[in-house]
Amino acid sequence: MKSKGFGKKALDLLFPPRCQGCGKLIDRDDGLCGACLAKYGDEQRESCPVCGRTARECSCGAAALGSSFIGNRRYCAMTFYNEYNADSERITEKLIFRLKRKNSSSLTDFFAREAAAEIMRLMQLSEERPEEWIITWPPRTPRAVLEYGYDQSEAVARRISYYTGIPWKKMLVRTGGREQKGLGAEEREANVSTLALLRRKEADRKRFILFDDVITTGATVREAADLLYGAGAEAVFPVCIAKTLLKEKTDDEGVFV
Ligand SMILES: [Zn+2]
Ligand SMILES: [Zn+2]
Repeated sequence: MKSKGFGKKALDLLFPPRCQGCGKLIDRDDGLCGACLAKYGDEQRESCPVCGRTARECSCGAAALGSSFIGNRRYCAMTFYNEYNADSERITEKLIFRLKRKNSSSLTDFFAREAAAEIMRLMQLSEERPEEWIITWPPRTPRAVLEYGYDQSEAVARRISYYTGIPWKKMLVRTGGREQKGLGAEEREANVSTLALLRRKEADRKRFILFDDVITTGATVREAADLLYGAGAEAVFPVCIAKTLLKEKTDDEGVFV
């Protein structure tokens, strides 16, 4: 909004900022109230039942996710994730559910700031140069975009770019997959979309941060990474808000269970 006098302040009066976790009114539109932020912090400090490390430090299932490194990491996650549930007691799950349903700029920004800080921390530790990387994402399925009207991974990825200064580029598209409405059960089953590369030539010898909001089985991230590597990408480093908790030990090639 360009016109003076009807800027952010006036909008705050009309739509006072609320906590994205509990709905309570908050002073600054920075995502969460103090209590929810503390809860989120607690969840980030939970340890992986397999390796005992926090989500930021845990490398379980890493080999299945990628072969590129930033420092000693093959992917970056900030917290663990058990299930996709709006009524979860866990604030991370509640927020991710909301991120997929409500196109909220304050929630998008909250997660983008979190991811940006972690990416920059890893890059500084390992003396990577942010300007040599490109941020991209596996797009949401066309039918989910149709249903909710936006792509949450794209929204967060573009804000990560804003906070880190790492440029973003839409490299991937989804093909196939129609609207579910009017399809029978079997048709629904077969109605899957696949990823395809949008700018084959622009992947050659490039380094990518691949942002996906959650990593569950890891299949989407692997599919996207394979496409980018197939077009000559030098590195593909997955970044997510939360990854599914591993319930049992896997070997180095292990996938998430
Ligand atoms: Zn709250
Ligand atoms: Zn672990």
